[in-house]
Amino acid sequence: MPQYKAPLRDVRFLLNEVFDYEGHYKGLPGGDEASPDMVDAILEGCATFCEEVLAPLNLPGDLEGCTIQDGEVTTPKGFKEAYAEYVAGGWQGLSHPKEYGGQELPMSLNLLKAEMMGTANWSFTMYPGLSLGCMNTVFQFGSTEQKNTYMPPLVSGEWTGTMCLTEPQCGTDLGQVKTKAEPVGDGTYKLTGTKIFISSGEHDLAENIIHIVLARLPDAPKGTRGISLFIVPKFLVNKDGSLGARNTVRAGALEHKMGIRASATCVMNFDDAIGYMIAEPNKGLEAMFTFMNTARIGTAVQGLAHAELSYQGALPYAKERRSMRAVSGKKDAEHPNDALIWHADVRRMLLTQKAVAEGARAMIYHAAKLADHMVAGVAEGNKAKYEEYDDRLGFYTPILKGFITELGLECANIGMQVFGGHGYIKEHGMEQIARDARISTLYEGTTGIQALDLLGRKTLLQSRGKCIFSFTNEMIAQAKPHLLDGGPVGKMARACFKRALQWKWLTLQIMLRANKDRDVVSAACNDFLMYSGYVMMGHFWLKQAIAANEKLAKGGKDSKEFYTAKLQTAEFYFERLLPRADGHKKTMLSSTSSVMQMNNEHFSFN
Ligand SMILES: Cc1cc2nc3c(=O)[nH]c(=O)nc-3n(C[C@H](O)[C@H](O)[C@H](O)COP(=O)(O)OP(=O)(O)OC[C@H]3O[C@@H](n4cnc5c(N)ncnc54)[C@H](O)[C@@H]3O)c2cc1C
Repeated sequence: MPQYKAPLRDVRFLLNEVFDYEGHYKGLPGGDEASPDMVDAILEGCATFCEEVLAPLNLPGDLEGCTIQDGEVTTPKGFKEAYAEYVAGGWQGLSHPKEYGGQELPMSLNLLKAEMMGTANWSFTMYPGLSLGCMNTVFQFGSTEQKNTYMPPLVSGEWTGTMCLTEPQCGTDLGQVKTKAEPVGDGTYKLTGTKIFISSGEHDLAENIIHIVLARLPDAPKGTRGISLFIVPKFLVNKDGSLGARNTVRAGALEHKMGIRASATCVMNFDDAIGYMIAEPNKGLEAMFTFMNTARIGTAVQGLAHAELSYQGALPYAKERRSMRAVSGKKDAEHPNDALIWHADVRRMLLTQKAVAEGARAMIYHAAKLADHMVAGVAEGNKAKYEEYDDRLGFYTPILKGFITELGLECANIGMQVFGGHGYIKEHGMEQIARDARISTLYEGTTGIQALDLLGRKTLLQSRGKCIFSFTNEMIAQAKPHLLDGGPVGKMARACFKRALQWKWLTLQIMLRANKDRDVVSAACNDFLMYSGYVMMGHFWLKQAIAANEKLAKGGKDSKEFYTAKLQTAEFYFERLLPRADGHKKTMLSSTSSVMQMNNEHFSFN
């Protein structure tokens, strides 16, 4: 199993030398508490917890998995103790209001924490991760009484939460939700139905589980406009906050799944379970999708996590294992064979992982700043500010979620490839990373749904291309001062400048074509998403290259190796990964007929 080491040098490079997080925090309400010393202490403390507590549980957790007996789920050995340590450390409430016992530090710190925890042990991270969605919903839409009842134990981590959307007949199309909510007459509801695939639906880490459930009132309109949202606690809560009767919501089974085996994914049966409405009747979906952008960035972090972990696994192996001689001649003269890392094809694989991990980290850390502003809008009661940043984040989210998780999966596969046949054998842990990574492109909206969201909703319907045009303007503004530079930065700046113009042009082309042929949207969206991802990552690689180049130009020995490697990784990205955008450009402009012309009956096996 890779020995996870938190990449703190890279994290600090982004925070301090690329994105000026210190200045950013000073501009946030209450942000002065996130002083450089405090941020550093959080990074160090989190790194230690992740390296020493969570990472060692990753492989055994996968081998043991969760078990269920009579509706009670047991998590793998060590998870309970690790979760208790997480709670005792106050990690869950890092970014939640002090009013409810949190530390009220900026949301971005929570994402930094999630990156380290998720890389160390994604299965474990699912338990507190799902609670965040639950807390955000209660915080934003709950009544004062609901907030006072549920927020403090959720914020402390004593209780956890879930998001119960999916049913056997629907995951993407939640308009088909069937779970019923009958009013009892005393302000409560009785919920009946089955939810599947519910992460952390049942487990032994916390004394209570608060389910946020989508269900229909008896007279609700059909489709998405007839869905309401309910709080359904595993144990009902007495007026004084103590636990009351066991509610009639139970785990019927654990899903048998490919990866994240230590995360309990449950079938949840609601059998006249008592629930409390949250948000307005029939407006449940809208409420559920508040803060969805931050949840999806959380899933983008999974792509980064698996790219990083697979790199950390593959790199030492490539340095130790020997095979033949490099084609350019003997490298390790003292050995009869050269280390794998000398072979150009192996270097290509390692550099792909490194470039994806560091590029994705930069994209996510930038989006995390927008999330901070969005949360500040909520805290200040400034709706316009909230909406402005939610919109801006809304443009990044499908790209981050869709593109980074697809590349994270590719990197996890590459990690196995570097190990050769040994990558396929369990004991090295590399196949686990690939299995764990696979879910990231499916939940929180599949890649296809992210792509539709980006092209159909965000680009064509909501902004008529403005979201792309404003981002490409940022790209041009960043590249322009460096267009005449010699050396690698000038080359990268020119590439970014060209791609910005191309992306604008492509957006206009797709808009024109979609006006004539609606199938263009669905047929082109995946390529549009991937194209956008490669170009956006190029912009963030240029940003890093400019910062590294400035440091190198100033001279001094400090971190020379780090900045040189940074620049060289950027060069690799621009020469070896960004050109993939050309294939996507070509495909998205192809006619839809090759996709749509075949009769459904002709899709057959014989
Ligand atoms: C391990 C795991 C954990 C999960 N955790 C949770 C959880 O905690 N809570 C929860 O509620 N759910 C959870 N889910 C469910 C997950 O979010 C859904 O599986 C996912 O949203 C996809 O829904 P679906 O499986 O019904 O696929 P479908 O919606 O049936 O989609 C099937 C395929 O069709 C494509 N497709 C669907 N509609 C369109 C369209 N209009 N245009 C183009 N393509 C389309 C999709 O992209 C996909 O490729 C989890 C799932 C798993 C496996």
